[in-house]
Amino acid sequence: MAVPQSGPTVPAPVERLRAHSDEFRKDIVEVVPGVHVAVGFAASNVSMIVGRDGLIVIDTTESTGAARDIIARFREISSLPVAAIIYTHGHRDHISGASVFCEGGSPEIIARGNFESDLHRDPDRYAPTAIMLRRTARQFGMGLRQDTERINLGLGPGDRPTEGLGAGFMAPTRTFDEDRLKLTLCGVDLELHAAPGETADHLVVWNAARRVLFSGDNFYHSFPNLYAIRGTRYRDFDLWADTLERLGGFGAHHLVPGHSRPVSGAEAIRERLGDYRDAILEIMRQSAAAMNEGLTPDRIVERVRLPEALAAKPHLQEFYGTVAWAARAYFSGTLGWFDGNPSNLFPTPPGARANRLAQLAGGADMLMAKARAALDDGDCQWAMELCDLLLDLGAHVEQARAVKADALTAAAERQINATARNYYLVYARELREGRIQPIDRDRPARPPACRPGAIRTADPRTART
Ligand SMILES: [Zn+2]
Repeated sequence: MAVPQSGPTVPAPVERLRAHSDEFRKDIVEVVPGVHVAVGFAASNVSMIVGRDGLIVIDTTESTGAARDIIARFREISSLPVAAIIYTHGHRDHISGASVFCEGGSPEIIARGNFESDLHRDPDRYAPTAIMLRRTARQFGMGLRQDTERINLGLGPGDRPTEGLGAGFMAPTRTFDEDRLKLTLCGVDLELHAAPGETADHLVVWNAARRVLFSGDNFYHSFPNLYAIRGTRYRDFDLWADTLERLGGFGAHHLVPGHSRPVSGAEAIRERLGDYRDAILEIMRQSAAAMNEGLTPDRIVERVRLPEALAAKPHLQEFYGTVAWAARAYFSGTLGWFDGNPSNLFPTPPGARANRLAQLAGGADMLMAKARAALDDGDCQWAMELCDLLLDLGAHVEQARAVKADALTAAAERQINATARNYYLVYARELREGRIQPIDRDRPARPPACRPGAIRTADPRTART
């Protein structure tokens, strides 16, 4: 990488991502006496509050394997039974180790009334679960070599047990629909507050006596994941920003996030929550302005940027979420899939489009040659896009897969974003192993001609509105 003539050397993206792993070094952190958080054992944290005659566990990680490691360490601190489990929200990485914490007892499991999880879904309802799991596996770099390929998860360590992944979920036994639930568990006064943000079903736990706030995934040490590339519903930017505003007013002295290390100090916490809110509001403001000018998502991401002061904050670096994905998510979440350009209402099917572009380019052989040249020039993105045309065409399939895989591998090295890096590398492996099929091979080469005479007026007797 190029080194500037003067000034400090800028670390390479991979080195920055590697340094970020320090957020997830394995540790049982004593936040205050009686409050402990297990960081770095799994993708997400598990917190424990030691009460008079029992333990309160907040979140349970993604696997029974990680949960076992954590409870073993918690048992070095306290042998009291687990009296209650609180789920901050329904994402798999927070609820899948519960059975381990329930062993030998039947703790109350508390969640919001609108608790939602794919592990807790009506099996008769349709859901694209299979593709979400496949994309999740890519996002989290499943199957990649630790360290050389998968550096970390952006919000958790790359190296953690995966035995019993998703296996230990236990359904909530107590839910609440109010905005706030005050309760005393094992002599500890707690407030659970509805806190819609990363998910609609979020809650935060407030231990006022110790001024400790457990924020779930509404804050962690990275730019917020306003969109997850594994596939997700719209995450409501407005609600998330409002929740952060509210959390900033708690006056917490200790902030325990669902991922990354806890933060202590009232001023540091206020700053982080305020910066998170400001970053979300800024993406909304800039995206809305660009949308009002009629710009499409591809144009909007060229423009939307965090202001310099926010972009420089260590807790807003794009290790997990990115500004560009957030701007796209705001567009699709508020205006839906149509970008506003009527050419895209009924676009040329991919196979036919690739066929026509290949003709313009001088044939599939030329496309292949240009894809290789782009890769040799270090233009990985263009190489990928040309390979996509070849795969849409079903031409030079083996070479196109190989060149795309090499382009993805090279692009991964330029990413500080762990999810993009992991997704690139897993996808490259799938390409090399022939697990990605060319798409639209059987599409007709030409779509129907656009002739005015071909448009028929609907028969008013049969027309339906
Ligand atoms: Zn999480």
